[in-house]
Amino acid sequence: MDKGRGLLIVLSGPSGVGKGTVCSALRSQSQNFVYSVSATTRAPREGEVDGVNYFFKTKAEFERMIEQNELLEWAEYVNNYYGTPRAYVEEQLDKGNDVFLEIEVQGALKVKEKFPEGVFIFLAPPSMEELKNRITTRGTETDESLKNRLSVAKEEIGMIEHYDYAVVNDEVDLACDRIKAIITAEHCKSRVNQYKNMI
Ligand code: 5GP
Repeated sequence: MDKGRGLLIVLSGPSGVGKGTVCSALRSQSQNFVYSVSATTRAPREGEVDGVNYFFKTKAEFERMIEQNELLEWAEYVNNYYGTPRAYVEEQLDKGNDVFLEIEVQGALKVKEKFPEGVFIFLAPPSMEELKNRITTRGTETDESLKNRLSVAKEEIGMIEHYDYAVVNDEVDLACDRIKAIITAEHCKSRVNQYKNMI
């Protein structure tokens, strides 16, 4: 049976919840999906590589991408633009590959309008206290930015009802196992339609 169109998997969660860590762990554990690299106007953090972590853009370059309709979705988050390049996602889905997007909530809701059949997963912290600890320990934020990110985080958690699944990131390996289990289940679900169409 042909593998059909790939699944679009969208992972969101508040800043500091560990999305980056969970995504890198998933990448090393499973070659079964491809990752979309986002464009952003935020400055690179130490160790981040252009084209690997993000495509780092100026505001003018980003605005040109918006105008040319090159982005599947985009959002402004804590004074910077972030967006998903459209072409790569569509190409990969058409090839039958599962595509993984790690994006914030406003962008995820826009993706849901275009891809209601996508799988929407919310990575949640064990508690707000723990989230604050994680952002502070990372040490990449100024006081102002920490305050902003925490208030955005609260709003984001308030949007959890729009997601299909909530995965608690208490331990990275457990969170990865839960995500892989969700993807396996979603593939089994999509097989139902494939079999129905065979008859
Ligand atoms: P950070 O600056 O910590 O790398 O990312 C800030 C937020 O932007 C995170 O919640 C991350 O998931 C989100 N983000 C990263 N790429 C994209 C994107 O392409 N689109 C949207 N809407 N959000 C993104």
